[in-house]
Amino acid sequence: VERNPHEPEFLQAVKEVLDSLEPVLDRHPEYQKAGLLERIVEPERQIIFRVPWVDDQGRVQVNRGMRIQFNSAIGPYKGGIRFHPTVYTGIIKFLGFEQIFKNSLTGLPIGGAKGGSDFDPKGKSDAEVMRFCQSFMNELYRHIGADVDVPAGDIGVGAREIGYMYGQYKKLTRLYEGVLTGKGLSYGGSLVRTEATGYGLVYFVDEMIKAKGKSFEGATVVISGSGNVAIYAAEKVYQLGGKVVAMCDSNGYIYDKDGVNLDTVKRIKEVERGRIRDYVKSHPSAEYVDGTGIWNIKCDVALPCATQNELDENDAKKLVANGCFAVGEGANMPCTPEAVRVFLENKVLFAPGKAANAGGVATSALEMSQNSMRMSWTFEEVDAKLKNIMVNIYKNVSQTAKEYGHEDNFVVGANIAGFLKVADAMMAQGIV
Ligand code: NDP
Repeated sequence: VERNPHEPEFLQAVKEVLDSLEPVLDRHPEYQKAGLLERIVEPERQIIFRVPWVDDQGRVQVNRGMRIQFNSAIGPYKGGIRFHPTVYTGIIKFLGFEQIFKNSLTGLPIGGAKGGSDFDPKGKSDAEVMRFCQSFMNELYRHIGADVDVPAGDIGVGAREIGYMYGQYKKLTRLYEGVLTGKGLSYGGSLVRTEATGYGLVYFVDEMIKAKGKSFEGATVVISGSGNVAIYAAEKVYQLGGKVVAMCDSNGYIYDKDGVNLDTVKRIKEVERGRIRDYVKSHPSAEYVDGTGIWNIKCDVALPCATQNELDENDAKKLVANGCFAVGEGANMPCTPEAVRVFLENKVLFAPGKAANAGGVATSALEMSQNSMRMSWTFEEVDAKLKNIMVNIYKNVSQTAKEYGHEDNFVVGANIAGFLKVADAMMAQGIV
């Protein structure tokens, strides 16, 4: 706490992991002797830099950029870049820390990192976003590389921003290499990357609920957010026979009892870059409600896919009272620790983000493999690999939970399973 003042999100993420590790430390006293916990909570490297750019009115704007390279024990650093006005070290450190264990759970050789800027892409012109991305890369390029650190997208960073950053990286380094993932299909991107986090989330939750004799068929689902993760989670829910009745953005939510029309949401969010309230213009029988409150809606399955700490204890109690039987975190740490406790105490099946949303980074790692081989796999091939990875993560997490005496507690299972692989690699590589 003293070393990381004013970083509550980071402390929250660390506490959750460390609390789960007690049974591991009992079995492995050698970890304590090797200072493993003290080392794992300290990033290997933090880079913070100035990002100056000129807006459309000719004014100079200055943002802060950062890349936090947290842990490279099992592979080159990998993790997204977030552009959002709330970005500061506490958020990027929490995300980078989570990323270590998530990447480990994928079974692929990738270390943990995260980056971002307090730049707000909302309301900016295309040209402004391009100039910002170029300036961001003017510094970042020195610290990344296909075998060093491979960033991807996150909140506020999608295909457009990745494209601008990739163009600038190539210009500066003269290297045509897989240094970023989430690239467009015409220049090294992988099929299924856009869908991967949302699809992967639903594959994981499907596996988790099937083990208890339930399914998405006929289930009512509420999904928060209306960005990349939310949209493709919704698409997969529909494919599995469920119905999504509500989605939101940071201004408010829509409720459509007949099932949210995803084509409309995609048009508003992906093409027009509009607001979710625009949905009711094309679907007048649906409702738009300003503000939070999406978790008041009755559902069988809840998938928070917007942002950290968006679902608190009261929301969790409402979901439980309304008969919700499963919650899957598409976003990173969307449920507060108190909300998670409510779910676990009430036997709601709970899939923590670091396991359930790992499909995005797993598919990014598949994009890296394709780039290295100078090949591209078909949609079906990548989707099958993604599904296989998510099923394996579920098996690993649920078996680990059981082995350590916490059956059906996938929080503990994910933290321990993710930790063990990294811990072994760190032990083998000495005190570095
Ligand atoms: P996007 O920027 O595409 O979408 C974010 C969505 O969440 C938007 O609809 C946004 O609304 C909404 N949102 C943001 N803040 C709030 C808030 N305070 N209350 C309600 N809604 C809010 O981001 P992604 O879909 O990529 O990311 C969503 C989450 O998933 C993040 O936690 C991210 O870290 C996590 N994640 C993403 C992965 C990926 O592959 N993209 C991989 C793994 C995790 P608005 O437009 O109003 O801001």
